[in-house]
Amino acid sequence: MASEVAPGVHRVGNAYVNCYLIEDGNQLTLVDAGLPGFRAQLDAYLRSRGRSVKDIAAVILTHGHGDHVGMADGVRLDAPAPVYVHAADAHMARTGKVHKRSGSLLPYLRHPAAWKLLSIFARGGALKPPKIGEVTTFTGGDLDVPGRPRVIATPGHSPGHVVFHLPDRGVLIAGDALCSYNPLTGRRGPQLMPKAFANDIGQAQASLDALAAVEAGTLLFGHGEPWTGGPASAVAHAREVGVT
Ligand SMILES: [Zn+2]
Repeated sequence: MASEVAPGVHRVGNAYVNCYLIEDGNQLTLVDAGLPGFRAQLDAYLRSRGRSVKDIAAVILTHGHGDHVGMADGVRLDAPAPVYVHAADAHMARTGKVHKRSGSLLPYLRHPAAWKLLSIFARGGALKPPKIGEVTTFTGGDLDVPGRPRVIATPGHSPGHVVFHLPDRGVLIAGDALCSYNPLTGRRGPQLMPKAFANDIGQAQASLDALAAVEAGTLLFGHGEPWTGGPASAVAHAREVGVT
């Protein structure tokens, strides 16, 4: 189901977990790395466009959670390409060890969506946390990789969570700072990720201010469909929904 979702920006994944490719001339940046099991789809999509994994010049991560790290180490070795992650999430990306969370997963198990997510993780090979052998860390600024994404810090969902702004394409890749599909409750529409996955849900709420200020027509999420109503309206929706 891979497809172009904005000029030169491609979505890879399934209905529950997304990652993205930014095309810049003959080079590509992989933004987040989904589940380990996405690799066959990535290779097939690249082949369909006359490209291969060798055209990936960099992997950049919005954060270090397993469902965003999946293919990273394989692509790092096969491209080969460096994997960039914020310094505060580097340890998690290298070891698979997750930070403290603002809530427990147990209350969500009444929702069929939570069970669906667990089965997607199991089939995608993400029950055992994927790890990355070597990472390159950053703390802000523009990343010198294809697409030249601008880094905006949005901590809360994880300590080193960032979003990537592509000003010339009007695109904001929001990772898990926001989602448009709640992977634990199944609710659709712009909202914060559930507190059971967040390191500090209060900080994640505060980070919404940084998102609302970005100028971008299209928002792309780690979970859910693209949102073309702009960041300010997405953030307003998320504030209305509140913490889940
Ligand atoms: Zn996450």
